[in-house]
Amino acid sequence: MKHRNQVFDNVLDLVGKTPLIKLNKMASQFEGNFYAKVESFNPGHSSKDRIALYIIEQAEKQGILSPGDTIIETTSGNTGFSIAMVSIIKGYDCVLAVSSKSSADKIDMLKTMGAKVYVCPAHVSADDPRSYYEVAKRLHSEIKGSVYINQYFNQLNIDAHYASTGPEIWNQTEGKITHLVACSGTGGTISGTAKYLKEQNPNIQVIGVDAFGSVIKKYHETKEFDEQEIYPYRIEGLGKNLIPTATDFDTIDEFVKVTDEESAHTARLIAKTEGLFVGYTSGAAMQAIKQLGEEGRFKKNDYVVVIFPDHGSRYMSKIYSDKWMKEQGFFDSINAEALQSIEYIK
Ligand code: PMP
Repeated sequence: MKHRNQVFDNVLDLVGKTPLIKLNKMASQFEGNFYAKVESFNPGHSSKDRIALYIIEQAEKQGILSPGDTIIETTSGNTGFSIAMVSIIKGYDCVLAVSSKSSADKIDMLKTMGAKVYVCPAHVSADDPRSYYEVAKRLHSEIKGSVYINQYFNQLNIDAHYASTGPEIWNQTEGKITHLVACSGTGGTISGTAKYLKEQNPNIQVIGVDAFGSVIKKYHETKEFDEQEIYPYRIEGLGKNLIPTATDFDTIDEFVKVTDEESAHTARLIAKTEGLFVGYTSGAAMQAIKQLGEEGRFKKNDYVVVIFPDHGSRYMSKIYSDKWMKEQGFFDSINAEALQSIEYIK
């Protein structure tokens, strides 16, 4: 196993092998043991380092990519950052079409990492020429020698997690895992991890986390794509207004939907209770555990693993900004305790 004291050839050697950290407070009201796979320990601070490195290396192996070529992707930010990081080390140009829902911090980070960024409107349908899918497709056809990663429709996204996240969790829990709780955006993380884990033990329960305003949960239950389910929501990277082929619905037992507001408060609570500064979807995943726990779903010997996909620093202008929380009305129904934790000396 790689260790902090070791010396590495470049930053890419640090991708994966993230820690599993016991949650001592967040689920202490429920029976069972709860652990978080904390993906912010990747060098690009998210689980997307795994797919960026894996997909690009597969393309290299197949002779599709050579240095100087361009890599194109649609991304809510994290995948873009990871592709940009891999591109720097491996000598590719990186072009990213991102949703306008992405935080300003994320977009600035992508530029800092050398990417050319196109910001596309979030609330248009996927087949609109302004959507980030259509913009990426157009750029792919225009730029010679370009590769389109297409994470929502790329089987390699699933394979990357099957090859790394799944085995890591199996080994770290010494095969004791009983439940996997993970957010579903492209679905690559949950599908690949679940596929590996269920091959080891088919009894493991796999619970996907979806957003209100996304079609994923209903599609899983009914196989119906219901446009009525679609409306704008604030969590980035979770849920979808289309059905990604990078989601293997058969590996997932059920989906739980969470709200923007509860997920934001839960993310803040993770920082305050566990000392873990994680992103909005980590709050969403933990919120799903809370909802399941309140239904009495966990038993004494259960070993629940939740994936925390990224780092909190990416949300400073969103859920970790009291101003933003207030603007969303997220402090309306509760005592704004966070506002009182700063005292201004005059
Ligand atoms: N959380 C965040 C912050 C993300 O960016 C993503 C990716 N869209 C996810 C969760 C979901 O991961 P996946 O795409 O593998 O389903």
